[in-house]
Amino acid sequence: MADIIQLLPDHVANQIAAGEVVQRPASVVKELLENAIDAKATNIKLLIKDAGKNLVQVIDNGIGMSQTDARMSFERHATSKIKSALDIYDLHTKGFRGEALASIAAIAQVELKTKQENQEIGSVLKIEGSKIVLQEVISTPKGTSIAVKNLFFNIPARRNFLKSNAVETRHIIDEFQRVALAHPNIAFSLYHNDAEVYQLKSENLRQRITGIFGDRINDKLVPVNETTELVKITGFVTNPKFSKKKRGEQFFFANNRFIKSNYLNHAVVKAYEGLLGSGYHPSYFIFLEVNPQTIDINIHPTKTEIKFENESDIYAIIRATVKHSLGQYNIAPLLDFNRDDAMDVPYSYKNADKKTPTISVNPDFNPFERSKNVPSSKSSDSWESLYIETQLSSEVDLNQIEVSLESNISQASLFDDINEQIANKTLQVQRKYIVSSIKNSLVVIKQNLAHERILYEELLTKITVEDAVSQQVLIPIEIDFAKQDVAVLFETKQELENIGFQFKEFRSDGVILDGIPATIPQDKLVATLEEIIENIKMDNAEDHFGLLDSIIKTMAKTLSIPIGKQLNTKEQEDLINKLFSCKEPNYSPSGKQIFINLAFDDLEQKFKK
Ligand code: ADP
Ligand code: MG
Repeated sequence: MADIIQLLPDHVANQIAAGEVVQRPASVVKELLENAIDAKATNIKLLIKDAGKNLVQVIDNGIGMSQTDARMSFERHATSKIKSALDIYDLHTKGFRGEALASIAAIAQVELKTKQENQEIGSVLKIEGSKIVLQEVISTPKGTSIAVKNLFFNIPARRNFLKSNAVETRHIIDEFQRVALAHPNIAFSLYHNDAEVYQLKSENLRQRITGIFGDRINDKLVPVNETTELVKITGFVTNPKFSKKKRGEQFFFANNRFIKSNYLNHAVVKAYEGLLGSGYHPSYFIFLEVNPQTIDINIHPTKTEIKFENESDIYAIIRATVKHSLGQYNIAPLLDFNRDDAMDVPYSYKNADKKTPTISVNPDFNPFERSKNVPSSKSSDSWESLYIETQLSSEVDLNQIEVSLESNISQASLFDDINEQIANKTLQVQRKYIVSSIKNSLVVIKQNLAHERILYEELLTKITVEDAVSQQVLIPIEIDFAKQDVAVLFETKQELENIGFQFKEFRSDGVILDGIPATIPQDKLVATLEEIIENIKMDNAEDHFGLLDSIIKTMAKTLSIPIGKQLNTKEQEDLINKLFSCKEPNYSPSGKQIFINLAFDDLEQKFKK
């Protein structure tokens, strides 16, 4: 039989490679902008027509190319940026694969004009589907202009796959913003269908951020700055007061390359802990500088993920740095700074045996019912911590302690019938605090933390004492996750099933669930799972209980009522009642103080000064 193996013709190979490099017009934008930066341009112009489907053109004033290089630049693996494989470990340029121009030229009509500074005359080159259709000398300014027309003209299926102009434009603007933010010293402009979108002159980072996101962001920017042996951190975060309900402007750059990192994002979010209502997101523009040898950028050309050698240290440094900045600007409660995470071990798990439930809280317990003679010895335990916290005199018999919510302080009496006093005894302030008076003091309760504590103990009870309630779903739910996240879920399968998740299938790109915990509303399912995954990645819990606890904490946090939610009187009272029937009403599951109290005696002293 005849030999059947053939080498693919170059243009076919290039088309296949193009599939990887060029997904959409925004990919072309990224590659061309990066080439212009590598060419040391100080002024870069981006012209777009019809969301880049018909034209993406980048004009720079960089070093330009010789006639030979102009032709060479479209060959596959043609690059001026590395000479040996070792160079990629010490890379200071954006590109190095020498694939971008070859790929783009395989699937579009490209026109290149370029001239080096010391040359009289420049070159023009036209290529269509990898074929050079014209090469001539031309008079052109110093630098390079590359126009990419009719993207995917020769692959109709790919062209049809492009999204609406609005979507493709959004992608282009995203790429433009990332590159422009990473290089504030370079002037950039963007025109779409001849209309000016951005005109950014060479400036500093703060000016660049306001140049892109508008002057209003200026007052919100809080600088971050830290230099350690591992990493240098600069940039800005935003004052939590201005956080966004939608994911805000969030940018990480590593050695001036935009990167995506859920892991590092989590570090920033952690630094904001307690400052943001749930569902709110900080904006940030954080630049990391690390030794190029400690990062792995040798990954898929279009991927923005990056692998740091010292990822967990960098996580900790980012978290501390952001927290410090927020604190310096008097934004975060300073008290919280030195909090020791080791303190967060849940009281119930410290010596817990995996099989033996140790918690028994009745979440429906209502202290007001106690005065209607529904005694419960269990619940009196729950009052203990409050009792100690408020430092009631020790002569008082524990079993006699009641809580009263008093409207009239002067008539306060330890043993008054509470039932007469519960109407309107609470007040919500700033949709954030519940103010009330309990026994001999005024208490101010942070609503979100209180609810987090209540949910945490309820969930803990459900899981350790009762059987987890799983809700079967009629149609299995498919959720997409990155490969490594599926791995996390798989590793944690047992714990997740303990709390009511039922997995039908683990795939490489997601999971299929046929049961979910009854406590999680469907619309919060994905967010909850994402949070759980992130926290597990962070926590490194080694045992079953550590994991389970981390999951429950996450759920409590994700599902708790946020700051900003208005609560009616009934809900306020409910929250107070449930909080103070918790085992540990003083601290949230992550160790934050839930309420403060001011003894009336102390209050009175203040008036005597
Ligand atoms: P890479 O950037 O990975 O080297 P590209 O295919 O993007 O590969 O570009 C190939 C080569 O073409 C580059 O290495 C560079 O020498 C040259 N080049 C591309 N764009 C420009 C530009 N705007 N100015 C000067 N040279 C350029
Ligand atoms: Mg390149």
